[in-house]
Amino acid sequence: TRAREEHFRLRPAQRRSGARIDILINVAGVDELDHIDHAACDGIGLMRSEFLFRDGAPLPDEETQYRAYRRFVEWAQGRPVTIRTLDIGGDKPVRGLTPDGEANPFLGLRGVRLTLAREDVFRTQLRALARAAVHGNLKIMLPMVTVPDELARGATLLDACVTELEAQGVACHRPPLGIMVEVPAVAVVPELFSEAAFFSIGSNDLTQYVTASSRDDARVAALNDPAHPAVTALIARVARFGREAGIPVSLCGDMASEPKHLATLLEAGLTSLSVAPARIARLKAAIAEL
Ligand code: PEP
Ligand code: MG
Repeated sequence: TRAREEHFRLRPAQRRSGARIDILINVAGVDELDHIDHAACDGIGLMRSEFLFRDGAPLPDEETQYRAYRRFVEWAQGRPVTIRTLDIGGDKPVRGLTPDGEANPFLGLRGVRLTLAREDVFRTQLRALARAAVHGNLKIMLPMVTVPDELARGATLLDACVTELEAQGVACHRPPLGIMVEVPAVAVVPELFSEAAFFSIGSNDLTQYVTASSRDDARVAALNDPAHPAVTALIARVARFGREAGIPVSLCGDMASEPKHLATLLEAGLTSLSVAPARIARLKAAIAEL
């Protein structure tokens, strides 16, 4: 069966009916790309930019970030590359950025909440992204969005960064700006976020927040189930709204990498998944069975 899976690796993912499913990858570092054949995927669905912001190290400057982001888009050779802005806080503390002593870090200043509070850090990253966008098909994604105003403020800042770069004579491009759908408040009323260029469902956090069970506590692991009907109903809700509104929807949480959830996700109407690179072949083989 290993050989059978390999047969699918470099082919587009296709159901028996012939329907195509886009399979993108989740990455969290530049070095990972050396081990992945870009022809095996339809792009990068989630680049977790936290790897640049190591705890204890100085914050990366614009040039460092620009060079890193540029490597991802060049690797992808025209395929889409969705880079998520800094998603620290919660389980990912970085000294000097995340607050100390939060009672509930997962409900605190994390993701876009933190970058909006640290405009200097946010601007540096957005400028680097707008510069890297010149070299390929780059998209920007905001994590932990909860209210439309966060998307609006992100868009305003991005526009300001692009205007500033242009005034400075620096080559740049304004990338599409989308959001993670991982806070239940967004999944319940996705129509409030129709300004987003795309949605990417973060089932890890969505499951955690919907089931009120930590994503990394073994004692409540049985409750932290992305197949809970409340979670899958929200996924279907977002997929349906995306179809109606013409907004692309993908899912980049860990459940997309598990063949056992595949039927549920495709039934919910998703046609795009972003998965762990090691799972590409197995998942494409499973899709061919459906
Ligand atoms: C998610 O929440 O599902 C997700 C993909 O983001 P992260 O795991 O980085 O929080
Ligand atoms: Mg998340």
